[in-house]
Amino acid sequence: MYDFVVVGAGPAGSRFARGAAEAGHDVVVFEQGVVGEPLACSGHVSLDLWDYVPEGAHDDLFQNAIYGARFHLGGADSRAYPFYKTTPVSNAIDRVGLDRVLAGVAEDAGADVRDGHTVTGVEERPDRVAVTVKGPDGTETVEARMVVGADGPRSRVRRALGLPDPDELLHGVLGFDPEPDARDFVDVHLTIPRFFAWRIPRGEAGVEYGLAAAPGEDVPARFDALVSDYGAEVDRRCSGAIPIGPPDRVTSRRGLLLGDAAAQTKPFTGGGILYGMTAADCAARTVDPADPDTLADYERAWRDALGRDIRLGALVRRAYSLPRPIQRVGLSLFSGEIGVHMDRPSSLFSAEQLRAMLGR
Ligand SMILES: Cc1cc2nc3c(=O)[nH]c(=O)nc-3n(C[C@H](O)[C@H](O)[C@H](O)COP(=O)(O)OP(=O)(O)OC[C@H]3O[C@@H](n4cnc5c(N)ncnc54)[C@H](O)[C@@H]3O)c2cc1C
Repeated sequence: MYDFVVVGAGPAGSRFARGAAEAGHDVVVFEQGVVGEPLACSGHVSLDLWDYVPEGAHDDLFQNAIYGARFHLGGADSRAYPFYKTTPVSNAIDRVGLDRVLAGVAEDAGADVRDGHTVTGVEERPDRVAVTVKGPDGTETVEARMVVGADGPRSRVRRALGLPDPDELLHGVLGFDPEPDARDFVDVHLTIPRFFAWRIPRGEAGVEYGLAAAPGEDVPARFDALVSDYGAEVDRRCSGAIPIGPPDRVTSRRGLLLGDAAAQTKPFTGGGILYGMTAADCAARTVDPADPDTLADYERAWRDALGRDIRLGALVRRAYSLPRPIQRVGLSLFSGEIGVHMDRPSSLFSAEQLRAMLGR
């Protein structure tokens, strides 16, 4: 019997698998497809990302350094309100490559990572979990002390464990123009109901256009309008769900959820790579597979680590829906150099932010 069955080899699952294996636990990870594919993510991350990957992976994953964002209340030609630092705030990275690196690190730590294996059922018993897995050689049942649902926004594990859904699932769509662009700024358009559209220069990897909105907002038509407004042409498109608003409970008797399965995302951007890996570290640190009571420690630990920023992030998102005149005044007042960390809205109240504003 394994200590942990992890479902999903995205950033959250692989990060957890690595930590649990390093702690001496027997870990198997099932990934339904090929690790990292299909792509459904911008891979726009704060520099903290580099603390989670081996140093040697930087050059392969790095695409472009971003110094800030230019906010717009209209289309491509509308007035830009820049928010920036004098040093890079974030990087555009190769997201498929990131997943592969993280899964490789988990394997090196001793986890058994099996791609091409789809988990189709999870049953919790008093002393174990029984997980049904369909692989290239047929269907098998694997037993473990605990199951970890790191299987993304539409988590099957969440359903099987009877855990509540996230508050919202937004529909995100991306497309890529292959023309290289190494500019310093992403463009953010507050033209989408309750969210935004974006343009990310990705260096030699081209330019990414994207947006996210509630289902029913005719996302494909809005995406076409964005791309044509920039006079661009995209040759690859993809889409995915973005969960917002973690449920009250992400643990059951012998199971826990991680990453998008638990909606551990930034409500004001939908970004979840760093939050999911932060929660994975909380789980690997606190959960003893032989002692289900430690699942409560994980609930506390990840909410302590991320809860405040998620709550503040939800408030930041509300500004996307303010009346235009108020948005115009707010953006005019606050644009310029900033000291904010892109993953931590709580840094809006930091000394660094105060210094940046006073120094303008
Ligand atoms: C359009 C878009 C743009 C985004 N841009 C950013 C960004 O720039 N920065 C950022 O930080 N975040 C971004 N995100 C969010 C980010 O992609 C997610 O937060 C992140 O991928 C969550 O990681 P995860 O490991 O929890 O889940 P995932 O990365 O979704 O991994 C889950 C894995 O589980 C596997 N799986 C699912 N079901 C099963 C099953 N039954 N059996 C076996 N395996 C299964 C899947 O194949 C997948 O590999 C974006 C999301 C979207 C949709």
